[in-house]
Amino acid sequence: MHTELDLAIMRRHVDCSRLLIRAGAFSRVFAGPMCEQLLHRLLLLGDGIAAELLLRNEANQVHVNKVLLDITKNMKYPDSCTFTFAGYHNPMAQHLYECVICHQTVCLVCSYKCHRTSPWKHSVQHKHHLVYVGRVKGYCGCHKVCVCARVHFCEILFFSLPCE
Ligand SMILES: [Zn+2]
Ligand SMILES: [Zn+2]
Ligand SMILES: [Zn+2]
Repeated sequence: MHTELDLAIMRRHVDCSRLLIRAGAFSRVFAGPMCEQLLHRLLLLGDGIAAELLLRNEANQVHVNKVLLDITKNMKYPDSCTFTFAGYHNPMAQHLYECVICHQTVCLVCSYKCHRTSPWKHSVQHKHHLVYVGRVKGYCGCHKVCVCARVHFCEILFFSLPCE
């Protein structure tokens, strides 16, 4: 049977997951690899508290690994496309997706935000479809089709000047 946290993971409701984890929720159906992705997502988001609680509960079957440590060490800005620290010249091992519509590799952060698959098949928003590739070395190409990474660079490096 699905736990509350399992349902939040299934629907990719990351804010919901954060609240549930703080309230002591754990995963059953999605323990292991899916929880591991959630752990990466929480750290990329900058939520160290939820990440630690998720790690501590043995039911979730998640462990710290080298990929996670490398990401934590290299990330610069919370909740931003991983292209901000892992670009063409320095690809990093991370959870990556591929969009079958625009043929781009998409990072974990973008898979939740700018590049997410719409659950509503008939919506006009249904323009991306992601397939999980794995925890592999690479970089996010999402910025080629949207402005996620570029906007972020502008905000940080150019003090919020408009990005053309
Ligand atoms: Zn990205
Ligand atoms: Zn993006
Ligand atoms: Zn796409």
